[in-house]
Amino acid sequence: MNEERIRLCNQKPMFSSGKYILYWMQTYRRFDSNHAFAYAASLAKKQNKELIVYEGLRCDYPWNSERLHKFILEGMYDNQTRADELGVNYWPFVESKTNPARGILKEIAKDAVAIITDDFPCFIIPKQIEKLSKKINCPLIAVDSNSLLPFSRFDRSVSAARILRIWIHKEFLKGMPKFTKPKWKKEDLLGLNGNTKPPAGFGLPKNLNSFLQTFDFKNEVPPAKGVKGGRNEALKILKSFVTKKLQTYETGRSEPNRPEITATSGLSPYLHFGHIGIEEIFHSVLEVTSKGKWNPERMSHQKPGDREHFYSESSSANHFLDELITWRDIGYLFFWKDKPNNINLENLPDWVKSNFKKHKSDTREHLYTLEQFESANTHDELWNAAQTELVKTGRMHNYMRMLWGKKVIEWTKTYEEAFQILEHLNNKYAYDGRNPNSYTGILWCFGLFDRPWFPERNVFGNVRFMSSDSTKKKFKMKSYLEYIGELRGNSDSLFP
Ligand SMILES: Cc1cc2nc3c(=O)[nH]c(=O)nc-3n(C[C@H](O)[C@H](O)[C@H](O)COP(=O)(O)OP(=O)(O)OC[C@H]3O[C@@H](n4cnc5c(N)ncnc54)[C@H](O)[C@@H]3O)c2cc1C
Repeated sequence: MNEERIRLCNQKPMFSSGKYILYWMQTYRRFDSNHAFAYAASLAKKQNKELIVYEGLRCDYPWNSERLHKFILEGMYDNQTRADELGVNYWPFVESKTNPARGILKEIAKDAVAIITDDFPCFIIPKQIEKLSKKINCPLIAVDSNSLLPFSRFDRSVSAARILRIWIHKEFLKGMPKFTKPKWKKEDLLGLNGNTKPPAGFGLPKNLNSFLQTFDFKNEVPPAKGVKGGRNEALKILKSFVTKKLQTYETGRSEPNRPEITATSGLSPYLHFGHIGIEEIFHSVLEVTSKGKWNPERMSHQKPGDREHFYSESSSANHFLDELITWRDIGYLFFWKDKPNNINLENLPDWVKSNFKKHKSDTREHLYTLEQFESANTHDELWNAAQTELVKTGRMHNYMRMLWGKKVIEWTKTYEEAFQILEHLNNKYAYDGRNPNSYTGILWCFGLFDRPWFPERNVFGNVRFMSSDSTKKKFKMKSYLEYIGELRGNSDSLFP
């Protein structure tokens, strides 16, 4: 195991009379291509103990909804199937009114020699880890499976993607990062399943749909039509992306279109819930775009910072990998060190803050409330289309996401209110919300990781401005707008 990925969260010694090593799967919800699971398995072998995998689902997480619950549960059913194939002792726990989760983890922690979990820099995870670390009598070890390079190597936060890109490329030039086992075999895990039974209340609901009907979720957000969570679906989407779309990624990525036509992968929800890992995506992209069998020596390794040529002979692959690695990592690293869990506009660079100070009282031509935004009820056809896509499908095309964020800043009384509205809508409706990239994506609209733009404008000052008119000029929007029309059907309202 790569020590750079391991973080000891408390100072407790191994509890030698404990029965098992417990892997608390909370972010990277899969067995294959998972550093934390691999570490838990190796520790169980070393300590000659059983390995238990606990995956929980509570009801009370922020922005909870049927949409998110169904997606996560579909992943848990896939995990049950995979655990059975591998002979892993998997303990899923799904909270319900009659089956409360309170105290469950503490209870199963009593018999643990050590607990291994996923390190993740955002949402409720850091606090959950901290809380448990104080309640238990054994070590709690968080393992970083977030990206290709261990984040402990980056000791400073960065202000721009071009800087991080150079750092990442230099690390690659020092040597390929150590990848974890891409696919387990039953033989690899022999002897780790001692058949210890979980306490009462564990197991998955027999019927997912009728189970979901028993909940009163805080947010009424139905699952999106045709969207399925879980590892099997994630692997299918990856295969289809690399064989059918990847070649057009460089030229087609920015153009908003129907999901089946747009050149983007649609993988972010599966990455967010850990149903798929970045290492397997990386490999798959390079396998498909390399002529003949790929190996690390085949990376072109041009000069550090060269976005077009660094990883592969294929320019499209390089563009995709740059989004997957540089742009995704910059968001995670923004939170990794010393960042408060709940962020706000104070985290923006000084040049942006002074801009906002100067322009905060500028007249806003349009002003909308949260309700008007939420129901896609603004004067702007493109903004309404983007919001409709979000509400109906749980996703939004990246270019539309940028425009969507910029316009909320323009049409609210204060920057703070704009931030709150964007955070709420993104996290409530998007499958990939509540992620470091949710926050850094939104903050990018406020100028994070960007540079000053000229001329200075109303409300934005020198922060980059975007307009629906120029979007219409830049792209052929007909197919996207037809798609949105189909999503809306004949209904006046977005909501049932
Ligand atoms: C206002 C706003 C809100 C956003 N909210 C989220 C969010 O909640 N969750 C989220 O994961 N991303 C968010 N993003 C970033 C980006 O829009 C999505 O990651 C991307 O659209 C996901 O679609 P995809 O998987 O088809 O991406 P692809 O283009 O296929 O890219 C592959 C992967 O690379 C990463 N990636 C691609 N573009 C970006 C980017 N600009 N920034 C960071 N990572 C990127 C993602 O992990 C993505 O799955 C937001 C951006 C903006 C401007």
